[in-house]
Amino acid sequence: MIQWIDIAVQTPAHSQIGGLLTYRHVPTAENSALCEGALVRVPLGSRDLLGVVWAIRDDAPEGLKDGSVRDVAGVLEGLPPLSATWRQLVQFAAHYYQRSVGEVAMAALPPQLRDLDAAQLARRLKKQAGKTDAETDATGHAPGLPLSAQQTQALADIAAQAGPFLIYGATGSGKTEVYLQAVQRRLEADPKAQALLMVPEINLTPQLEERVVARFGAAQVVSMHSGMTPAQRLQSWLAAHSGRARIVLGTRMAVFASMPHLQLIVVDEEHDPSYKQQEGARYSARDLAIYRGRLEGAKVILGSATPSLESWHHSRPAAEGGRYQRLLMPERVGAGQLPFVRRVDMNNQPRKTVLSAPLLAAIQARVQRGEQCMLLLNRRGYAPVLHCADCGWKSECSHCSAFRVFHKLDRTLRCHHCGFTERVPRACPACGNADIAPLGRGTEQLEEHLAELLASVRRPDGEPVHILRIDADSTKHKGALESQLAQVHSGEVDVLVGTQMIAKGHDFRRITLVAAINPDNALFSSDFRAPERLFALLMQAGGRAGRDASQSAQSEMWVQTFHPQHDVFAALKTHDYPAFAANQLMEREQAGLPPWRFQALLRADARSQEVAQTFLNAASHALQAQAAQDPALDALLAQVSLYPAVPMSIQRVANVERGQMLIESPSRMALQKVLAELQPVLHGQRAVPAHKGLIRWLVDVDPLAI
Ligand code: ADP
Ligand code: ZN
Ligand code: ZN
Repeated sequence: MIQWIDIAVQTPAHSQIGGLLTYRHVPTAENSALCEGALVRVPLGSRDLLGVVWAIRDDAPEGLKDGSVRDVAGVLEGLPPLSATWRQLVQFAAHYYQRSVGEVAMAALPPQLRDLDAAQLARRLKKQAGKTDAETDATGHAPGLPLSAQQTQALADIAAQAGPFLIYGATGSGKTEVYLQAVQRRLEADPKAQALLMVPEINLTPQLEERVVARFGAAQVVSMHSGMTPAQRLQSWLAAHSGRARIVLGTRMAVFASMPHLQLIVVDEEHDPSYKQQEGARYSARDLAIYRGRLEGAKVILGSATPSLESWHHSRPAAEGGRYQRLLMPERVGAGQLPFVRRVDMNNQPRKTVLSAPLLAAIQARVQRGEQCMLLLNRRGYAPVLHCADCGWKSECSHCSAFRVFHKLDRTLRCHHCGFTERVPRACPACGNADIAPLGRGTEQLEEHLAELLASVRRPDGEPVHILRIDADSTKHKGALESQLAQVHSGEVDVLVGTQMIAKGHDFRRITLVAAINPDNALFSSDFRAPERLFALLMQAGGRAGRDASQSAQSEMWVQTFHPQHDVFAALKTHDYPAFAANQLMEREQAGLPPWRFQALLRADARSQEVAQTFLNAASHALQAQAAQDPALDALLAQVSLYPAVPMSIQRVANVERGQMLIESPSRMALQKVLAELQPVLHGQRAVPAHKGLIRWLVDVDPLAI
């Protein structure tokens, strides 16, 4: 008997081989029959590739009876097959985000699985098995903390209801403790159960990893994130896939972890943009978590102090159409209070003021009392632009439509988009004027400026002020972030300066003052999600203040702004996320934006902006022409708007011109169907001579930034 097998393999993007490839397998005495989900090696061209058995049929597919079908080269021995639900998840993600099943499946597996031969894999498996025997005895759960009333209530609701749940809880309200105890209950109730705990960026929160390991024991927990070596990733994956690891703690990629006994999924800080993958299949791990939960019958808990408007909307009362259960945890643990918010009207400050006098005085007073302050400025480097006042020259990047940022520490101009770096010129490259000056301000400059302003201030122990900067530049080297965070936790640091990296998740115990130095830029962005993101960032940042209840009554969040009356700051003042959300949702409903409507962005990269846009517009016209002959497609298109192509907001990066086309619909289904119809049209347009110079196109479904 011959098995005809459809296999998911990695196929080159944009090749016409979008789907599965068919192979043959002839079971023999040594070679048992293959089952769905089995991991195999198959020949493609002259190479030997990893593949997953997707479907098996008894008869040869039409037209393939001859010798053109090749045999499966081998099976990865010792690995149980991937489950049907795992394959369904991959298949759904591939369809929904418009990529091939093979690409999504391979991206969801650890990279080393592709490279190891049978003998190497056997060694890894043996090593794993040995390890488990030695370690399983040493497990057992450390007890959780005695719960507050609102924590008890949240856990009871999670146990009693089906979910999905959205925990809307203040920063420091004890959400993490609820996640951990929900996991603990699941694991105790079923000796096989597994739980998936997702966080936006593990590197930013080493504390959480410690907390989970301390609670459940190192043998039960594995991590999954892009900062791990290929060998570590394979090891974690094998432990989860075999069911030995009970808890997977990971970033967005972990949503695809193979976990045969998955019963609970937690998505912490569910609003965080890093849950959206920004290349390949541009999936939202939060949205896939919801889908996967339903597929596997696992409970899903989302949590945030500032939920995404999508999740907030989904958790409206069931009577109004809500599908998630909203659980409230408004109070901070131990009667801690949220910081008092002060808005400084920068219109009343002298021109070019960086730190207003009252804020500076407040910082000095805190430092003198031995408390910590945190200053947030969402721009790294010294200044965003260098500028010549004589001729108007600016430090543009020659490869991008963006300015290169001035970094004073190593005297470079660096492009944050393409990486192009040069020494700062001695004189203006355009006119020779020696006096070129920085425009605007970044974290490096703020750090320098603060050091001057606080030079004469002393800590209670008589020592000068210790200022520390944390941003993508200061943390480039491995281990740098951990050691810098440790300096903050130990109390060595008095003033912490940084980008959004310092605003998220950290449980700093001694910070009593947080200040946003210049948050106004985001107010006037063309991106409709900018206010939502700014509000979340400021609430998160404010959440770093007064985490120790004994100091929380005096804690403050300062905002320096030219628009103190703006909605975002007014809502921040009263910590009123629900009011802010209601307002935003109303505006979005009126403007026809998500979550009321669904969007996809079609992007084209080309040698010229003209080609990028022509290609997109041509595809749109071709689809409409097709609809003229096809009533079903016509009816579909009536529900979907395809807008004309426009340049992206940063239209050129690394000499590639980028254009985009917005596609929008009140119906998710209609949007999905149109995107599927568009794929062959795009392939067809690629060959048109007028589109020479087209490099690639891609589809971003539910894009985060327009
Ligand atoms: P969130 O995730 O909502 O920001 P956490 O769970 O991190 O809050 O809790 C904030 C702080 O309060 C942590 O230091 C945590 O150890 C502590 N904490 C949480 N729950 C309790 C509790 N029931 N009793 C005592 N301390 C608690
Ligand atoms: Zn000049
Ligand atoms: Zn550049």
